[in-house]
Amino acid sequence: MIIVLRPDATKKDIDHIITKVKKLGLKAMVSRGVERTIIGVIGEEDVLRMRPLEAFPGVEKVMPILKPYKLVSREFRGKSTVVDVDGVRIGGKKIAVMAGPCSVEDLKGLMKIGKAVKKSGATILRGGAFKPRTSPYSFQGLGEEGLKYLKEVKEATGLKIVTEVMDIRDIPLIEEYADILQVGARNMQNFNLLKEVGLSKKPVLLKRGISATVKELLMSAEYVLANGNFNCMLCERGIRTFEDSTRFTLDLNAVPLIKKMSHLPVIVDPSHGTGKWELVSSMSRAAIAAGADGLIVEVHHSPEDAYSDGAQSLVPDKFKEMMEALAPVAKAVGREL
Ligand code: PEP
Ligand code: MN
Repeated sequence: MIIVLRPDATKKDIDHIITKVKKLGLKAMVSRGVERTIIGVIGEEDVLRMRPLEAFPGVEKVMPILKPYKLVSREFRGKSTVVDVDGVRIGGKKIAVMAGPCSVEDLKGLMKIGKAVKKSGATILRGGAFKPRTSPYSFQGLGEEGLKYLKEVKEATGLKIVTEVMDIRDIPLIEEYADILQVGARNMQNFNLLKEVGLSKKPVLLKRGISATVKELLMSAEYVLANGNFNCMLCERGIRTFEDSTRFTLDLNAVPLIKKMSHLPVIVDPSHGTGKWELVSSMSRAAIAAGADGLIVEVHHSPEDAYSDGAQSLVPDKFKEMMEALAPVAKAVGREL
């Protein structure tokens, strides 16, 4: 349920409503907009049906949210959310590009990649230090050593850092190094992890599960917001279909669809979505044309030597070409790079 407050509602009015809602065993989430404040009421709302909330001072109207996802819905917040990653704004006019290797491998290589992607216009460096691998025998990531390399490249380039968190126990450590906590496709429904990143002060990049519906993705994001973290971005990274010519099927329907259903920024990952570096630039352009707020792209200085996902990684020169080709598309849809 959403309580829309009158523009002249006072702090006292708001506090009074919140106290009442809490007394009934419900959770009140306050969203302060430029023009007015709204309060989202979460929990078993039946107890509220008998209370004429409209009669409370400061209340303009009370609306039920019929969808199972509430805080992430457009009904809750009509205006698109802009996530501020320490000065890099995601969800506004400017398209955010996150780029870097699949896995952090060594400092020298990471520095090379970081400097190159920064020069081409990326603002955020991606790189996994904790890797979710299908096989337990594959490279599992460098752990804290990898986080240290990310930090060194951040200091040298000014790029922000996005890196994956797979385990609740690693959150405090990763928070020391990362600017964005990535929840990977395989953990999209790890509800305890979602709750915990929901309690974090760091923005979250939540990737769509390999076989998850858009609705399930939104329900997972609801966990993050319900625990207090509204700085959440959603990522379309391809889903599993019958098509096996590409690694996954990048579901670009999801981009305008999510933008309609939710106020959260949408990021597209054309690297995992296709599995083929030759397709990454085209699908990036398509993603921006479809309304994506950002991209996350794998870049490696020597893909044939990459510890993971070499086949879908762009070399820095190809990444530069991709960025140049993106600019006119962004402009055509009223955005900029
Ligand atoms: C990644 O970003 O390297 C990754 C493992 O992505 P996903 O969780 O989408 O497979
Ligand atoms: Mn990868």
